[in-house]
Amino acid sequence: MNFSTFGFSPTLMEGIEAIGYENATPVQELAIPIILEGRDIIASAQTGTGKTAAFLLPVIEKLSAMPHDNQVKAMVIVPTRELALQIDQQMEGFSYYTHVSSIAIYGGTDGTVFSREKQALTQGADLIVCTPGRLMAHLNMGYIKFPELKFLILDEADRMLDMGFYEDILKILSHLPKQRQNLMFSATMPSKIRLLAKHLLHNPFEINIAMSKPAEKIVQKAFVVYDMQKIPLIKMLLTDTEMKRVLIFCSTKEKTRQLYHELKRAGIKAEEIHSTLEQAARENVIIRFKSGDIPVLVATDIVSRGIDIEDIDMVINYDVPHDGEDYIHRIGRTARASAEGTAVTFINERDQQRFGAIETLLEREVEKVPVPVQYGETPVYNPKIRPKGEKRGFGGNRKSGRKPGGHGARKN
Ligand code: AMP
Repeated sequence: MNFSTFGFSPTLMEGIEAIGYENATPVQELAIPIILEGRDIIASAQTGTGKTAAFLLPVIEKLSAMPHDNQVKAMVIVPTRELALQIDQQMEGFSYYTHVSSIAIYGGTDGTVFSREKQALTQGADLIVCTPGRLMAHLNMGYIKFPELKFLILDEADRMLDMGFYEDILKILSHLPKQRQNLMFSATMPSKIRLLAKHLLHNPFEINIAMSKPAEKIVQKAFVVYDMQKIPLIKMLLTDTEMKRVLIFCSTKEKTRQLYHELKRAGIKAEEIHSTLEQAARENVIIRFKSGDIPVLVATDIVSRGIDIEDIDMVINYDVPHDGEDYIHRIGRTARASAEGTAVTFINERDQQRFGAIETLLEREVEKVPVPVQYGETPVYNPKIRPKGEKRGFGGNRKSGRKPGGHGARKN
């Protein structure tokens, strides 16, 4: 379906054309007419489906017909600063030729940022994109009110609840006028999301975009390893192949830091990104990674969603992601646009069952690449057997009694 069929005003169409969209994605095709009609929506759709434009475009269309009176009329609440920034950038692009204004409220610890946000909030913008904690901080100061708010959008609602924002969201709702249009987007629909939806939405239209499988052009591989083999293997992967841009995901900040320092010690030009870094430092790292200045970025899941970099050659999962969706988000950072890409996952004994569940969800087996002999013996892959305890870091599936690489295994 072409965007011209939605009947958007010429100034919005100009923005859409400048960005280069021609045809609507399935979630856009379903959601845009319903939002234009004024109905509430609950949509199960993930990053990568085009959900951002699905809610921004009809809301911009409606906002451009309203008075520009320095009153906030639309609020988008998102779980992370990265997503807030990304949505704000898309907003700027789409609304460029319209009179609709927007600001992002996502913070950082810098006091000047807070006062800039305060000024922007009190002077007003048509649409704000915010993280719940930061908005609450401003609300608690008592200087912002939203008497004219007409649209509330919760994006990645499941992730916000996972991050413990349920209470903050309820508090924010209590500051908003009751009469408004509500749009809720969530990758999954656990019972707590259903509960929130019941509280928030009126006779919502339900959209269910089936979970997208990873793009075929992503070559997926895995190494079945002991923890101590991961760093030597990563060094091998980074030095044996010529790659411009590699993104390595770790499940915790501590592992991210440790791996980053190991890579630096090995003379590999790498940077790290996780929530401990200040917002400005995070943005700077992303810009340098995008520009090609840093070839290797070690990250927590903070960048598994939202980050839009077209040509990442390889994604390495230093450990198995929490679930299939996180896996798809992480590996979806490679092979974007028309480029090809590789996704490599390290599976230790404890993560085998989890990876098996991911393979079930993907409806395919990911190729297990043999580890070169010089790195020592590896565990046997048997995702159905739960590893026995975590004694000395070994599971119950060892090939032999010899310790891998002749060293004692260690815990992560
Ligand atoms: P999202 O799911 O909103 O994060 O969007 C994922 C990616 O798809 C972003 O890079 C968007 O710019 C892009 N995108 C969204 N809608 C379209 C469209 N209709 N045509 C082409 N690209 C799109």
